[in-house]
Order: sequence, then C-alpha cells, then structure tokens
Amino acid sequence: MAKINGAALIAKCLKQQGVKELFGVVGIPVTGIAKAAQDEGIRYIGTRHEQAAGFAAQAVSYIRGHVGVALTVSGPGMTNATTALGNAWSNCWPMVLLGGATDLEYTHRGGFQEAPQMAIARPFCKWVGQPTRAEDVPRMIEHAFRTAWHGRPGPVYIDLPGDIIEATLDDAGLAMPAQVAPPPRMAAPPELVAKAVETLRAAKKPLLIVGKGSAWSEASTEVRRFVERTDIPVLPTPMGKGVVPDDHPNVVSAARSYVLKNADVILLAGARLNWILHFGAAPRFNPDVKVIQIDLAQEEIGTNVPATVGLTGDLKAVMTQLVGQLEESPWECDPKGEWKKGLTAEVAKRKAELKPALESNETPMGYFRPLNEIQKVMPRDAILVAEGASTMDISRSVLENYFPKKRLDAGSWGTMGAATGFALASAVVHPEHRVIALMGDASFGFSGMEIEVAARYKLPITWIVFTNGGIGGGVAKPQQNGQLPVNVYQNGCRYDKVMEAFGGKGFHCESPDQLAKALQAAFASGETALINVAIAPTAKKAPQTYTHWLTR
Ligand code: ADP
Repeated sequence: MAKINGAALIAKCLKQQGVKELFGVVGIPVTGIAKAAQDEGIRYIGTRHEQAAGFAAQAVSYIRGHVGVALTVSGPGMTNATTALGNAWSNCWPMVLLGGATDLEYTHRGGFQEAPQMAIARPFCKWVGQPTRAEDVPRMIEHAFRTAWHGRPGPVYIDLPGDIIEATLDDAGLAMPAQVAPPPRMAAPPELVAKAVETLRAAKKPLLIVGKGSAWSEASTEVRRFVERTDIPVLPTPMGKGVVPDDHPNVVSAARSYVLKNADVILLAGARLNWILHFGAAPRFNPDVKVIQIDLAQEEIGTNVPATVGLTGDLKAVMTQLVGQLEESPWECDPKGEWKKGLTAEVAKRKAELKPALESNETPMGYFRPLNEIQKVMPRDAILVAEGASTMDISRSVLENYFPKKRLDAGSWGTMGAATGFALASAVVHPEHRVIALMGDASFGFSGMEIEVAARYKLPITWIVFTNGGIGGGVAKPQQNGQLPVNVYQNGCRYDKVMEAFGGKGFHCESPDQLAKALQAAFASGETALINVAIAPTAKKAPQTYTHWLTR
C-alpha cells in the first residue's frame, strides 16, 4: 500500500482545491509542506516575514476571486501573521492560514514555540481547526476553503501540529473531498427589487456608491449596464475604483463631499457605511438620506443607517435583477435637472482647484505633481497598490483606475505594511500587468525588506516611495525638550540604495523631470526597481472641510 506523509497530504489537498501559489516562511515544522507543495506544481514564494505572506495570500484571494493560502511556522511565526488575518477579516476577504504548531505529543508541556494559536486566530476567523489525526486533514482543508469563500468571505485558520505534518499514513482509501465550487450567486426577493426601483424613481438626487464588494463579486459589467441605463452619478470607494472606469462621465469622485452631503437616495453597492463612508451620518451625509443597500451579508443591512430597501444577495445577481426591472419600468436620472447641473459644476470646480498643484514645478516637490507624473505613464490596466497616509489618500484623487480589482490599498483596517505583500501577489498572479507599489516612507518601513522577494523571484514590480522624512513628514533635529520629534526618521533616507543592495534597480529623484525619467527607465528595465521620491518634509494634502475625527 502506498504511503504518504502529512506534509504531502496537505499539499495534495491544496492542489485539489485549486491552489496555484503558496506564500510563507519555512522552518520547523512546516518546511516539508512547502517542498511538497512545489512537488505538486504549486508555486512557492518565500517572504521575509509571515505578515507579508498573509497579506499576499489575501490579495491572491481578492485578485483571483478564489482563496489564497499562507504558511507559517509555529509560535511567533504564526502570531506574526495575525495582523494579516485581521486585515482579511476587516476587508471581508477569504484566506487560509496554515500555521505549524507544537507536536501534539509536547503540547501543554512547554513544547518548542508552543502558543495558544487557535485562540489567537479565533476572533478574526470564520473558523479555526486543528487535525488531531492526519486522516482528518482532507476534510478539514475542504471545510476551510468552503468556509472562507462561501457566505460573507473571511479568513480561516488551520493549526498543524508537527507530528501530524510528519505522520505517515496509507494513501489508499483516504477520502479526498472534491474541490469546493464557487459560491452560488443568490438573488434578492423580486418584490424588494421592484421597491428599490420605485425608491429611485422618487429621488431627486440619486447616487450610486460602488464598494469593493462589487469588485469582489465581479459585477463590473452589470454595474456599468445599470449606470448606462439610469445615468446615475457614481461614487466609488477607494477599492471600488475601476468597477466603473474613473474616466466614465458619471464618476463624480472629484465632488465626493458634495455628493455625499446632498444625495437624497443612495444605492449602496457592496460598501459598508463604516468610517470610510463617515458612518452615513450628518454632516457628511444628508440626514434624511434614503439608503438602498445591496450586500451579501444580511446582518450588514441597516448598519448605522436603517435601509429603506435591503437587497440581500450577490451583487452581480442583484444588479442583473435591477437592470431587468428597469427594462420593465424604466427610470433615468434627469440629465438636465439641478442635480446633474450642480454636480457637473462642482466636479469642474474641484478639478480646476487641483490643477496648479498637479502642474507645479516647485522643488522640493509636494504630493500632487509627482503623482501626476505617475498618472501620465501608468498603463490603463496597471495594478496599483497604494499605502501610506497622505500618499495613499492623495493618490486616490490623482491616479485613475479603469478596471476592477486594480487598486489595492490599506483598506477597511487602514493597515500599514500590507502593500509589499499585495504587490508580490499582484505580480505573481498577473505577470502581464504592470504592478506599481506606491508607498509613503512610513508605510515602506513596515515591510520594506520584502522588496528582496521581488528581486529573488524576478517580479518586475515598480516600487515608488514618497520620502518626506517621517510619519506625516518632518526633519530629524532635536526640539526644545532635547529630544527628536516623535514622528521623524533619519534625514534623507535613500530607499533606492536598499533596492540596489538586493540586486534591483534604484532611482532617486528630487524633481518632476527626474521622476519622469526614472519611471521610464524603471519600466523599460523589466526588473524590480525602487524610485525614491524626495518630497518636502512639510508637504500636505489640500485643506479638508471636515477635519473632526478622521484627521485627528
Ligand atoms: P468598501 O471598503 O469598498 O467601502 P467594504 O469592505 O466596507 O467596502 O464593504 C464591502 C461589502 O461588500 C461587505 O459588507 C461585504 O459583505 C459585501 N460583499 C462582499 N462580497 C459581496 C458580493 N459578492 N455581493 C454582495 N456584497 C458583497
């Protein structure tokens, strides 16, 4: 009878579930799993820190519309990945984390790197499990994939004790569950679809907010069809960008504050009324706003603002229903009405306000001109990973996305340190697309060592670091109390040299011209390259109307 060990069995199950790549950090007791995965034809990418492996796995999930997997060693290795679990939980993204664990034999006896790993993972996970017999591995892995992917997506954790990984068992007769099928697309009750269209019909100032749930649902065609049929103004959330192309005439991102404040009916499509959307509350929103909410998760309907109509279902399916309903009873946003006229004027005003900053030749540079240089050369189908506070926020208003799932950023959790893992995953899954990872120097510091991974695996990612010298910028010199300001870094850091040290290309720029040349050379090199963009330590965003808690 053929024998198989636990590591090979785990790898076989991952293959069976359609896993194409595995991100991780090897060591006791999981090295055998990574090697066995390679033997199964799964591409193994070794990161420098488990957190990056976790971020990469969830980005694989999001980009592929499937379930990505990360592998860690026990104890500190596993706990290093818990921030990634938190990020997946917060973004409603699936992923499977496989954590090596102390042998069952040594558990509760002070075993090597023993830790309460299941308890640590549990608050962020839809499910956690630990096989106590190697025979249980196949059904647990199937359960993990199904749970992470079906329903509202989220992370799951499997704890893998060393003696399960090393166990030998008979291959023959092992029950191998089938690959988990994609979740069925659930439709909303037809009477509520009709009510949604009636609610829109009564609107004077309707607005469609497109969130990353629309991207996850791959509903871009249906959402665009809805927009074209209704001529409704569209506001994407940060990662909802690209579901409707940013240069579509109905996209009103430039007038974000204006539309949120004035809309009387909002169709909320795969977005939550959480902090990103100011809880749907006044003064950012019209206090009498009616919300038609589409979400996969029934319990999300009505969060923070009671929904006038709650359409529980898959976005692609529900959008198809709405378009069908509009065929029966057409409705269109009045193209000549006050709402459209006001919006057109507001968008034009906001764009004109930005123009001087976008075209400024000033040095040291602010944020806007270098972002404009990037926008000029960024291919339409590029994948943009954006992270940092001001760098990321401002990039949203300058860098356009034209396709769904082409912007990944700090997301619902505002997580710093995710960008490198996201960029690695993007380059692995989509080698045919240009991957640009834009970061502030603060965010780069959280996971900058991962650029070595890009050099090692020859992933031609273009890393762009906006260096302003600290968290919110600044200069490292002692202040009156004799100490350095709490937010600053070493002056004049040259992150491009770190890239060169790892075998990639490095560029340093202090002017728009230098940046334009560096971008051209970086793209032409076909290698991973880091462009260090020195910007003013005092560079700021445009003044905000609402400064209350968000800018606290
Ligand atoms: P954003 O950050 O873009 O505002 P959120 O992460 O806050 O987006 O919200 C996304 C919402 O989309 C979640 O409430 C999630 O339940 C929902 N969602 C995820 N997948 C689907 C889907 N296939 N169909 C409908 N809603 C979905």
